[in-house]
Amino acid sequence: MKFYNTLTKSVDEFVPNEKGIVKMYTCGPTVYYYAHIGNLRTYIFEDILQKGLEYCGYQVKRVMNITDVGHMTSDADTGEDKMEKGAKREGKTVEEIADFYTKAFFQDLEKLNVKKPKIVEKASAHIDQYVKMVEKLLKDGYAYISNGNVYFDISKIPNYYQLSGKVAEELMIGVRDTVEHDTAKRNPFDFGLWFTLSKFENQAMKWDSPWGVGYPGWHIECSGIASLYLGEYLDIHCGGVDNIFPHHSNEIAQSEAYFGHKWCNFWMHGEHLNDAKGKMSKSNGEILTVSALEKQGFSPLSYRYFCLGSHYRKQLLFSEESLNIAASSYRKLKSKVESIGEEGAYQEDFALSYQEKFKDAIGNDLNTSMMLTILYDVIKDEKLTGTTKLFLIRSFDTVLSLDLLKKEEKVVHELDCFVQEKIKERALAKENKDYQKADLIRDELLALGIRLKDSKDQTTYERL
Ligand code: AMP
Ligand code: ZN
Repeated sequence: MKFYNTLTKSVDEFVPNEKGIVKMYTCGPTVYYYAHIGNLRTYIFEDILQKGLEYCGYQVKRVMNITDVGHMTSDADTGEDKMEKGAKREGKTVEEIADFYTKAFFQDLEKLNVKKPKIVEKASAHIDQYVKMVEKLLKDGYAYISNGNVYFDISKIPNYYQLSGKVAEELMIGVRDTVEHDTAKRNPFDFGLWFTLSKFENQAMKWDSPWGVGYPGWHIECSGIASLYLGEYLDIHCGGVDNIFPHHSNEIAQSEAYFGHKWCNFWMHGEHLNDAKGKMSKSNGEILTVSALEKQGFSPLSYRYFCLGSHYRKQLLFSEESLNIAASSYRKLKSKVESIGEEGAYQEDFALSYQEKFKDAIGNDLNTSMMLTILYDVIKDEKLTGTTKLFLIRSFDTVLSLDLLKKEEKVVHELDCFVQEKIKERALAKENKDYQKADLIRDELLALGIRLKDSKDQTTYERL
């Protein structure tokens, strides 16, 4: 299997440390608000990766953190703690905010058929581990105390910029004007391992430590949780591309300094979902959530299908129109599958050969659109019996997770509501003698596989 490795900047053969077992760490959400559909694109990519590895015979041990402390509004350790900000906004405690948005996050994952990792751990539950690590980093000369806080000294790490592939000067251009620098740092990219009250007086979540009452930095939580649950070596670490710098670069620096050896061979990053304004982001106000999509009549799995249509390493531009197209293809796919009957004998040779092709698509840097093409090939292959087709669809759906064999009354209902709305809109256009608009609506529906049939006093429709 080959995947693109951000560390080497090439598509590399994937070989885990222990035969057949993959230790995978995926950065989890900062739970100060709902996850937006951009965040969820990253979790869909990681889900397909986990399920793809399992499909190819690996046992995947996966861990995810929940960030409920220490993530500042700026990744460069300045600004407020995002959780504190969320609590103030809603007049609740940090714990209440964390509980509420953690639940909402897992509800969204469930709707998108994203499997919850077996081990999910809150950052605030592992303070002892971070303190232990910070103590060792200080003892070994990788960290220093300044203005009451403990910082990691990146000058001690010769390959600090390897993951980002950028030099300090290039990175400075990105932050110089936008970020207020923490003057306690020796180098602007040194990062906080432990903050004390000297920095944020009103922090709600705080713990005692050898350096005073305070709280951990955002980066140490992932290294701490990963080492507690997966040991000294990781096989794959994932996240969205915005995590490459500084978050993942800092995780590597502190983990390798702590363990004294290489930590993780493979780093995989999902590209962003953008909207017309650019990167979808929780901090810039309006965000699109799964519930918002549902309110607009989309099924969450239409969004999953939309994401699978493009490669995880390509930016994906979201618009209602493109989601509409994906939703229509998804509905057509479901109805094609529905029309296949359990008929004829099971053809083992054909099935094995298609399964091999599917595995090749997984091992081809997680090529989801190729996986979908193989699925469509199976559906239209005249040599295959219905029984073999259904076997393969069930098999592929363990990775795609599109509920292909589930009879979805909800999807049918949504489609009906959507078409009825369009029929009303067209009737109104006709009433207003706007025949151009009426024709446009008819053509728009036709492009989605829906043909309108006008009779004397009503319009009905059929699915093509
Ligand atoms: P956060 O909750 O902000 O810590 O982000 C959770 C995950 O979503 C991280 O892995 C981010 O890299 C990822 N992410 C953030 N914005 C986007 C986006 N617009 N598209 C895809 N992934 C994103
Ligand atoms: Zn992380």
